[in-house]
Amino acid sequence: MISQLNEVPLWDIVIIGGGATGLGTAVDAASRGYKTLLVEQFDFAKGTSSRSTKLVHGGVRYLAQGNIRLVMDALKERGILLKNAPHITSNFSFVIPAYKWWEKMYYGFGLKIYDIMAGRLSLGSTKIISKKTAQELLPTAETKNLRGGIVYRDGQFDDTRLAINLAQTAEENGATILNYCKVIKLEKQEGIIAGVHILDSITGKEMLIKSTNVINATGVFTDAVLKMDDASQPKLVAASQGVHIVLDKKYFPGNNALMVPRTADGRVLFAVPWHGKVVVGTTDTPVDHTSYEPTALEEEINFILTHINLYLSADISRKDVRSVFVGLRPLVKNTAAKKTSLLPRDHTVVISKSKLVSITGGKWTTYRKMAKDVLDKTIALGQLEKKTCVTEGLKIHGWTDTIERPDDLYYYGSDAAMVKELYKENPAWKESIHPALPYTKAMVIWAVRNEMAMTVEDVMARRTRSILLDAGASIEASPIVAELMANEMRMDESWIREQLNSFISIAKKYTMDDV
Ligand SMILES: Cc1cc2nc3c(=O)[nH]c(=O)nc-3n(C[C@H](O)[C@H](O)[C@H](O)COP(=O)(O)OP(=O)(O)OC[C@H]3O[C@@H](n4cnc5c(N)ncnc54)[C@H](O)[C@@H]3O)c2cc1C
Repeated sequence: MISQLNEVPLWDIVIIGGGATGLGTAVDAASRGYKTLLVEQFDFAKGTSSRSTKLVHGGVRYLAQGNIRLVMDALKERGILLKNAPHITSNFSFVIPAYKWWEKMYYGFGLKIYDIMAGRLSLGSTKIISKKTAQELLPTAETKNLRGGIVYRDGQFDDTRLAINLAQTAEENGATILNYCKVIKLEKQEGIIAGVHILDSITGKEMLIKSTNVINATGVFTDAVLKMDDASQPKLVAASQGVHIVLDKKYFPGNNALMVPRTADGRVLFAVPWHGKVVVGTTDTPVDHTSYEPTALEEEINFILTHINLYLSADISRKDVRSVFVGLRPLVKNTAAKKTSLLPRDHTVVISKSKLVSITGGKWTTYRKMAKDVLDKTIALGQLEKKTCVTEGLKIHGWTDTIERPDDLYYYGSDAAMVKELYKENPAWKESIHPALPYTKAMVIWAVRNEMAMTVEDVMARRTRSILLDAGASIEASPIVAELMANEMRMDESWIREQLNSFISIAKKYTMDDV
């Protein structure tokens, strides 16, 4: 990929940022036939895009807020994503338990509208259920005052596996996709954007990349790039922190998710089964400071534990938490809104005087529509030949019509058979990296050879989801992973030591010891 930088004297489009927005834009641009380069300063989805609730959803909460357009768009995108990436998405049952007499009718009616809005892309109809069925679907739900509930369908996915598959799809369509390359300066000619200066953080080499168009897709870091363009730019993005905790499945068995539309203090709470664990969250805390490894606040953990204990019969405490992960929502600033939870989740495209195009806001679910929108607006600047978007029917890398869900490797889709082929090269690679983690040594090798994993953290956090599923176990497994990677990448002992120090200091932030 790096060698391709020297082969292209002028790119049509350079995209800054390798999260959902940037990767989606790279897929769109490359599949329209533009000469496309994406640069990500760390690893793909290192930012917000690895820290979502893992829902492909219209957003029941946004419906309650009256944001009909966002919900309609998101429901359409949900349907498209489930078709184009069936290996990393699933159609899931969400159960709202009803503890008050009016809740069944109120939420049941709202969710019927949600279904109708999804039209032919509906994932199945909403049902009002009895107390007995609610108990069957949510075996550990609190039964005191339980009056039944509502079951509706929504989507679930693996956010970083989708990010990696989008990078692969973009590359297969002709894009050049680089991780560990940071944009440090914008290049201008007569005041108009003409490229970017990048720093390859692995070799330390700086390079000027010339491009007709530059798209800034840097999430909560959008303002930093806008400032490179014009130091007097007002802030565009407000960051809001969301925390999740991960628990063992025994606290929430079964294959249905729990959705609480309105906790006592007016928030939404989800408990969603995921890779053999349960993800519970989230919070919505405005933050002034943006960081790549944000820290959960004590009160956020307390909020999640207190509220999940109201809805589940088990008494879950801090010691039961396997991992805690924190993400920052890039929300478009709106001075009228008093709370970040009231800021709209729609995306915004801003074109500055220098013709730098910035896109921010939105959701993982709507990444494809966001990409189409930003590309259409970039084309309208008049520097590119007009070409139409083809992503609505474009299959994402890994697409297959023969997914066997009980298979541990189902989320590799069409790559699963090739991951298994590695067992023939070395039968020891069939072994697990840790008894508490659902990952084999072959997956580590695959990630290095085929998915551009450069560091132990890339493998543990985003190629596999070890750090999210069990942060303690991921620390214990890290020496094995570092050793496998070093052999594969021909790295020495000092690389292993440096990788382990760096990974362990990050992984500790995901344990409860650091909150
Ligand atoms: C707690 C939480 C839960 C969420 N849950 C859901 C959900 O369930 N479903 C859903 O649809 N959405 C969800 N979202 C929203 C969704 O995750 C985000 O909208 C989306 O991930 C944002 O992606 P992005 O690409 O804009 O930003 P990011 O993922 O942050 O990507 C921006 C990238 O730009 C890179 N970058 C920054 N500066 C530079 C530079 N100078 N040079 C090169 N690269 C640079 C960063 O390293 C980063 O990787 C959730 C968000 C949060 C916070």
